[in-house]
Amino acid sequence: MHELSLTQSIVELAIEHAHRENAVAIRSITVEIGALSGVSADAVEFAFDVCSRGTMADGARLEVLHIAGRGRCLECHGESELETLTYTCPRCGSLALETVQGQEMKFTEMEID
Ligand SMILES: [Zn+2]
Repeated sequence: MHELSLTQSIVELAIEHAHRENAVAIRSITVEIGALSGVSADAVEFAFDVCSRGTMADGARLEVLHIAGRGRCLECHGESELETLTYTCPRCGSLALETVQGQEMKFTEMEID
């Protein structure tokens, strides 16, 4: 389950940032999860409870933003929305698509006290 290590690094990043801002507690953390990242939001929520326990992020609210997948066709250069990593271009049927969005999970913002 790679959600655990991903979530662990997000919690660490948030704590590091909160220390720099002289915060005493983290109220919420927002993460973006791409539709093509293979990351399960439920697993991230579970991992967040585990990773934040006993830290200044303990009790923080986790906001998850779902980012749609987008790909660009290398043949016709059209962009389309993607739901999975196995797809064909809806315009020309080509299999040569590159992913332009939705393949990652990242930490975007946080609220601190
Ligand atoms: Zn195409």
